[in-house]
Amino acid sequence: MSHFLNEEQQMMRDVAAKFARNELLPIANEIDRTESTPEWVAKRCAELGFYGLYIAEEYGGMDAGLVTACVVLEEIAKASPAFAGLLSVQMILCPETVSILGTPEQKQRLLPPSARGERVMAYSQTEPAGVGNIPFHQTKLRPEGNGYRLDGHKLFCTQGEAKTYLVMPRTQRDGVEGYGCVIVEAEDEGFQVQKYEEKLGWRGTNTGPIAFNNVFIAADDVLGDLLTGNADHAAANQASFLGHAVTSLGCMIGLFDHTVAHIKERQLYGEPMWKLSPITDRIGQIYTKIEACRAMLYNAARQIDEGTLTMPLGSACKAYIGDTAFECCSQLLQMWGGSGIMNSTGMNRYFRDARAKMVAEGSTEIHHSVITRALGFADPAPAN
Ligand SMILES: Cc1cc2nc3c(=O)[nH]c(=O)nc-3n(C[C@H](O)[C@H](O)[C@H](O)COP(=O)(O)OP(=O)(O)OC[C@H]3O[C@@H](n4cnc5c(N)ncnc54)[C@H](O)[C@@H]3O)c2cc1C
Repeated sequence: MSHFLNEEQQMMRDVAAKFARNELLPIANEIDRTESTPEWVAKRCAELGFYGLYIAEEYGGMDAGLVTACVVLEEIAKASPAFAGLLSVQMILCPETVSILGTPEQKQRLLPPSARGERVMAYSQTEPAGVGNIPFHQTKLRPEGNGYRLDGHKLFCTQGEAKTYLVMPRTQRDGVEGYGCVIVEAEDEGFQVQKYEEKLGWRGTNTGPIAFNNVFIAADDVLGDLLTGNADHAAANQASFLGHAVTSLGCMIGLFDHTVAHIKERQLYGEPMWKLSPITDRIGQIYTKIEACRAMLYNAARQIDEGTLTMPLGSACKAYIGDTAFECCSQLLQMWGGSGIMNSTGMNRYFRDARAKMVAEGSTEIHHSVITRALGFADPAPAN
């Protein structure tokens, strides 16, 4: 892949690969087992500049583009796909939402500390009624005095050590209903982080419900237009779909690399295991799928960087690479026999993380419905 990466991108890839291999991989099983990520991991990512990669230079970031952000996430996902998923939300989705919707004052308030990793943000849309079933969402913003009040609750919010939450409420102005985006701070009165969920995969990312009880939202905590704030940052969602697709890609490459080393070493029937033809055949197929997914992903990321992405290619990448990663991880895990099922080898977490990624950031089916809608069919279902 190096042939189309520029010098800066190759340098960031090497930095991320070194961090992933030497610092993250040794604790990746621990993160999975204990469902918690040590605080120093986020601090190291901040020191290495990862949080600011997709933030404009004028707001303290590196403005390095989506290809660079994806290259970094791919390396990190090879070691811990779960942590890469969390990082993607905080590195791409949240700052890009603020960049698109924010006033210069809001950007100045949120982005420089975010680029330094000091203001970790979370993004919250999903509700019990279903992520895309917006008319049935119960989190509502109502005007009060010179601001608003927010009531309701959200599900499955991936938070890490979030201080700031970007929350999508139903809104109204002059009798017209909408769906906006507001800023809620962790310390706001009436805001509550509820018990984190124990999960199949993506463990250690602090995912769980959050609730709002009469939370005061100042006028300058509304991001973008009150009625259309959600729809207006669709470009941030497209970039984020690629951020998640690349974590699926890194997930399958991580397990692929471990498995290739394993089948070269393992002896079966007095010979190296790779001499069994079904194994080599499958490895060849999976290698090919990895390269196909990589080409698809970086083609789309480059289009976003160039501003030429017109089709719902982000949705296509999220759905296709997510499904392919799960299928390949399942086949790769099979090559480990019983040791793959045992937690001690640390291999089955790749399989579980790949499975979680088929739902997180919009399920495969929701993304397919977005694609068919863009092709002129059927009903829309916003993906998130
Ligand atoms: C680990 C994890 C982290 C997450 N983090 C966040 C987060 O940080 N913020 C956030 O807002 N959300 C988050 N989510 C929520 C996630 O985006 C949703 O779970 C996902 O989009 C599916 O929505 P749902 O759970 O409402 O399922 P439902 O919408 O209830 O879906 C149920 C089933 O119906 C299918 N379906 C739904 N709509 C359609 C359609 N239009 N066409 C065809 N089939 C359809 C789905 O594919 C699924 O099989 C997270 C989820 C997970 C698992």
